[in-house]
Amino acid sequence: MNQADRSNDNRPSLILSVDIEGWAQSTLDTNLPISSYCADNARRLLGIIGELPGATATCFVLGLFADKHPDVVRELHAAGYEVASHGYGHVQVHLLTPESFREDLRRSIGVIGDIIGQQPAGYRAPVFSIGEGNLWALDVLAEEGFRYDSSIFPIAGPRYGIPDWPNETCSVVVNADRRITEFPLTAKTVMGRNLPISGGGYARLFPGWLLRRMLRTECRRRSTWPVFYCHPYEIDPGEFRRESSETPWGTMHLPLTLRLHQGLGRRGFAEKLRQLGRHFRLRSFADALNAAPTLREIRAAEFSRNS
Ligand SMILES: [Zn+2]
Repeated sequence: MNQADRSNDNRPSLILSVDIEGWAQSTLDTNLPISSYCADNARRLLGIIGELPGATATCFVLGLFADKHPDVVRELHAAGYEVASHGYGHVQVHLLTPESFREDLRRSIGVIGDIIGQQPAGYRAPVFSIGEGNLWALDVLAEEGFRYDSSIFPIAGPRYGIPDWPNETCSVVVNADRRITEFPLTAKTVMGRNLPISGGGYARLFPGWLLRRMLRTECRRRSTWPVFYCHPYEIDPGEFRRESSETPWGTMHLPLTLRLHQGLGRRGFAEKLRQLGRHFRLRSFADALNAAPTLREIRAAEFSRNS
């Protein structure tokens, strides 16, 4: 990692988060295994970030990935990246009960803790699956010792999101007056609608200059740093052309629409990330907590809806 003195660095700060997992296991079927090329992709992506001036990131590592590739987790921790939890099995939180969520969480804390020697401070839910119907998850996270969460999208999405959640970092009061810091994924209001601009398909498809412009506007508009996310597989344009012996889905037929939707924009994504890293100072959530701005306080109960 580039450790150059960046004290004169006047680029806007952007939190970079990398969800370390395998595409097939996380997106296609959670019963599939994590393949060996997922480790190669993770090493390559972190290598790209490591070459950017003053850049670091938070890695939300899936427990299953850590079990399969402990060396990669050890390497990225040794390289100075913050290691946080993406849960164990990538089961979406709204499909779990508070008890089974706690179980999944503890399993991930156990495997990551054994590798890096400390408990992760942060958590990101699979597929941003903390919404208004399961905000009890923030309570469980606080009880299990997490300092922060970054799972809530302040949008009205078809699969996830809480549309009226604040579009900035907040201190959230949960049950029993515990607090947890929530770093929501960054959205941008366009014609009265909040669009997700912090990663995924939108970020792969938007031209790089437009993405940077929208993120720069967010940096100016808010007092806390915006959040961007990506995955190691997003820099692997050849994933759907690999031999069936190498892919977790084997000879299973993947529909063309799925391959197009999931593969689109992968070819140019590494360069897009490099450009982001030149225009923004890429930071971790640990950096953001250390910067310790005064955060707006909100109560989870105000956003909660029993589904
Ligand atoms: Zn994930």
